[in-house]
Amino acid sequence: MDILEHPNPALKQTALDVDPSCDSELPRLVKAMAHAMHEAPGVGLAATQVGVQKRVIVFDVDDGVVALCNPVIVDRSAETEVEDEGCLSLPGITVPVERAYSCVCEALDLKGEPLRLEAEGFVARVLQHETDHLDGVLIIDRAEPAERRAAMRRYRELGESR
Ligand SMILES: [Zn+2]
Repeated sequence: MDILEHPNPALKQTALDVDPSCDSELPRLVKAMAHAMHEAPGVGLAATQVGVQKRVIVFDVDDGVVALCNPVIVDRSAETEVEDEGCLSLPGITVPVERAYSCVCEALDLKGEPLRLEAEGFVARVLQHETDHLDGVLIIDRAEPAERRAAMRRYRELGESR
């Protein structure tokens, strides 16, 4: 399973909701996504990054792989934090991105059972980053214009030297 890289147009698409109770492909998709994420290596991956337009994300921040279907950030703290962020679909660059410091995410697990995650710090950042992917939003879309231009220049240079 290959991870798509910017400017692949599939990364700009909005993924569709899934129904875990009747989508028999999901367990295999999640397993393949988790494998691709670990291989990269990365801490999170959205289905749109592997060309599958389904609202499914996986992440692994120390506690093992968590898979979420139809994740929605239902609450964000007013407090925000700016940190350098990278993305497996933009290899080689990082850009400063402002995110809510904490958030609440509602989703379904692979059995279709509702989940509610309260996260802060790095995990909250990963959840916001991955759910952004499901709406076709990348870190460069969240960066300040000057930062975005500089990052894209670096990205092109890296692409030319690859
Ligand atoms: Zn990403």
